[in-house]
Amino acid sequence: MTRDALLDLFRKSGALLEGHFRLTSGLHSPGYLQCALVLQHPDTAERLGAAIAERVRQLRPSVVLSPALGGIVIGQEVGRALGVRAIFAERQDGALTLRRGFMIAETDRVLVVEDVLTTGGSTRETMQVATAAGGRVVGAASIVNRGSGVKFDVPYVALLEMNLPTYEPERCPLCAQGMSVVKPGSRPVAT
Ligand SMILES: [Zn+2]
Repeated sequence: MTRDALLDLFRKSGALLEGHFRLTSGLHSPGYLQCALVLQHPDTAERLGAAIAERVRQLRPSVVLSPALGGIVIGQEVGRALGVRAIFAERQDGALTLRRGFMIAETDRVLVVEDVLTTGGSTRETMQVATAAGGRVVGAASIVNRGSGVKFDVPYVALLEMNLPTYEPERCPLCAQGMSVVKPGSRPVAT
């Protein structure tokens, strides 16, 4: 999948809005990304999973581990394309944990998959879950990489690099241009 094809998928599903947004954090941004909106279409989710799988297959993962909730759908699809198990870690008392009887064996080669990587913090925490369970982390992947310069000790693959800056409202160049600001979700489709 080319960058243009991916961006097109995001725009068409409303997962990527471009304009002038007030985010939940209060910061302003020229873009808003909501991966769940692209993943709500199972055929698209499957294609994205296959595209990631193609790029990580040589790492020979034996299990895909994702952080809940954002990573679950894409993790499942990567696992499907690779023909391996797809499991997830979820928060319990603030810490990511394997629950529901999910197991990682010492022989397992773990691929950590999430939807959007921003700081890399949740991918890193998911890697620690895998290591603590006795597995070996062989790589990480996400659909979108918003975090420029994030580095891991293992190979990391993203389908789409996307730089969406955020600004303090009083320093926002879009406000300075007099553009009206929109709260994401307050209109159904991108312009
Ligand atoms: Zn602004």
